[in-house]
Amino acid sequence: MAAYQVLIVGAGFSGAEAAFRLAQAGVRVGLLTQSLDSVMMPFLPPKPPFPPGSLLERAYDPEGPRGWAFHARAKYLLEAEKNLHLFQATATGLLLEGGRAAGVRTWEGPPARAERVVLAVGSFLGARLHVGEVVEEAGRLSEASYPDLLEDLLRLGFRFVEREREVPETPSTPGYRVRYLAFHPEEWEEATFRLKRLEGLYAVGLCVLEGDYARMSQEGKRLAEHLLHELG
Ligand SMILES: Cc1cc2nc3c(=O)[nH]c(=O)nc-3n(C[C@H](O)[C@H](O)[C@H](O)COP(=O)(O)OP(=O)(O)OC[C@H]3O[C@@H](n4cnc5c(N)ncnc54)[C@H](O)[C@@H]3O)c2cc1C
Repeated sequence: MAAYQVLIVGAGFSGAEAAFRLAQAGVRVGLLTQSLDSVMMPFLPPKPPFPPGSLLERAYDPEGPRGWAFHARAKYLLEAEKNLHLFQATATGLLLEGGRAAGVRTWEGPPARAERVVLAVGSFLGARLHVGEVVEEAGRLSEASYPDLLEDLLRLGFRFVEREREVPETPSTPGYRVRYLAFHPEEWEEATFRLKRLEGLYAVGLCVLEGDYARMSQEGKRLAEHLLHELG
């Protein structure tokens, strides 16, 4: 038996939201992310309105709106879910069995197996962060973008489009912009979240769509409802 019914790669706004909802509905969920220090970490602090009943709404506190405080509350809520296993690992490629996605390989070594695999990797595929004259391989300030998963997806034939987004300067951080790759729209089916090239593989969030935190959270919830329907 696979360790998880659903394995989600990336504990950002969309992946964490989907995992939270699935776990609450009794689904065994693995939520793996390359750094536990950046679970649901915003670029700039989130501001309401948020989708009603979302993890985003529950983790927001108008008395402590800073990004780090928001991240800490979201991580605490995720860790309190008994069907949800949040763990730190970097996915380096897909595990395939009989032509379907059956989990991921990890940089750390142990593979993670599941009946269904969701990629929720945000702006981290092929990411380049430009701050002044400096260019870093990072999807967010101080968070590296490693090449392995993208290289594996390219080997499997997946196609991508380039996207870019800016973060304005704030009193405590410089302005910067991130260029990254998102799945080509023809690879992804919006109604089912499926990456059609492989059975058992899904994608959600910024790696397939553009939008703000509220939209990513809404998409995470929509994915969870879809998978609950599929799982019967
Ligand atoms: C530069 C930039 C600025 C933005 N600013 C705003 C803003 O101010 N307000 C707003 O509403 N929206 C903003 N957005 C849009 C969007 O809301 C956010 O990007 C949001 O974080 C996307 O959610 P997500 O779940 O798709 O990805 P993310 O929240 O980025 O989560 C992806 C997660 O996947 C993990 N990950 C990636 N690759 C791997 C791997 N191989 N193995 C394991 N884990 C992995 C990462 O560590 C990360 O935690 C911005 C987008 C960008 C690119």
